[in-house]
Amino acid sequence: MTASTLFDVDFTIRGAGIAGLAMADALVSRGQRVAIVDTGPAGGGSSGAPLVLMNPATGRRARLVEHADHCLSLAENLLKKVADFSGITFYSKNGVLRPALIESLAKNFQRAPDKYNWPSPDWIQWLDEEQFTENYPYVGAHHGGLEIPFAFTVEADTFIDQLSSYLVSKGCIQYLNTPYKLKENGYQGYSVHPESGSSFTTLGVIDAVGSSLHKLPEWDFIPSNRIKGQLLDLEFEKPLPLKESISSMGYFAFLPANPYRLVVGSTYEHEYHSLEPTEQGRISLYEKLDRTLPGISNRKHKATLWAGERVSLQDHKPVAGAHPTMNHRYLLGGLGSKGMIYSRFLAEQLAITILAGRPMETAFSPDRFVDL
Ligand SMILES: Cc1cc2nc3c(=O)[nH]c(=O)nc-3n(C[C@H](O)[C@H](O)[C@H](O)COP(=O)(O)OP(=O)(O)OC[C@H]3O[C@@H](n4cnc5c(N)ncnc54)[C@H](O)[C@@H]3O)c2cc1C
Repeated sequence: MTASTLFDVDFTIRGAGIAGLAMADALVSRGQRVAIVDTGPAGGGSSGAPLVLMNPATGRRARLVEHADHCLSLAENLLKKVADFSGITFYSKNGVLRPALIESLAKNFQRAPDKYNWPSPDWIQWLDEEQFTENYPYVGAHHGGLEIPFAFTVEADTFIDQLSSYLVSKGCIQYLNTPYKLKENGYQGYSVHPESGSSFTTLGVIDAVGSSLHKLPEWDFIPSNRIKGQLLDLEFEKPLPLKESISSMGYFAFLPANPYRLVVGSTYEHEYHSLEPTEQGRISLYEKLDRTLPGISNRKHKATLWAGERVSLQDHKPVAGAHPTMNHRYLLGGLGSKGMIYSRFLAEQLAITILAGRPMETAFSPDRFVDL
């Protein structure tokens, strides 16, 4: 697909979360004219979380994220580019520790370095109980643990804010905080009518609407689940004795540039009536904190609760690709708890699919849900 003067922009992206903005970056950097529309602000969805992890060894098995090497290198390039643009330190490659708090986790974690095809052995290392305690005496009772040095901690709200400004500086048009109407003109592309701002035409539309996916009738064949998650954002009076972030039964996100702050995550709530933080969420997050970092919650601090919604698909993989029947219509979503690590990689794959016609890997394509 080439830029055409028949349209005001080549692509319009619906949603200014990490998925939509990463997609915009992949297209703008290929010379495409891009607009973003969002009914809320950039980062108004779950990408506006305070501190998040980009951890290539996830879940109870410390399983290697698919294409982790490529995902992390594209994500790091984007973080660096935006940090250079903004002059703000909002991320660190400070690694993640994965203490095995229970014996079954220890068995899984111990196997992980040999079980998966790590890009190199220094991506993951198992330490037995004695070694782990010696290196990390502040971690609570455990049965050993993993060190994952190639993991990042990101102040997601600042990153998204600055990424949005960076894209504007590169010519990406953004209509934020405004309702709009989208009209399909068949092979003639689409027209977009923001309530505040002028209408414009676009050849392609990419939906990156996070947990609102279920509200789009065009994609109703994609089986998605929404899961509420709460985070505890803690600001201490004295610096904390950490270097790395921690992910075990819960996560503890820490940026060395601000040693007074710790974000504790997260709850997984499948039944809920509102996205407001709750007292139950607070209690469960303090329990996680006391188990993993005993004594820390007794230090003087202020606490703020944050809540958001993840969207996960039946097979727990994200989705990126073309609509099976609609012209010039694409989707990027279903990122679950891995939006930060996957978004720029999937945006790259989707940009190549759209612009160069390379088929999307079946594991990520919307086609896998057709005829389910
Ligand atoms: C508690 C919690 C902890 C998490 N921790 C991590 C973590 O440590 N690491 C990690 O990688 N991920 C984490 N995640 C997940 C991560 O936040 C998501 O994977 C990621 O933010 C999804 O990005 P997105 O752009 O798809 O969606 P969102 O960020 O939700 O963005 C979607 C955007 O679309 C807009 N929108 C909705 N409908 C429309 C429409 N019709 N038209 C236009 N715009 C629309 C919304 O306003 C929103 O701005 C966490 C999530 C939660 C809730």
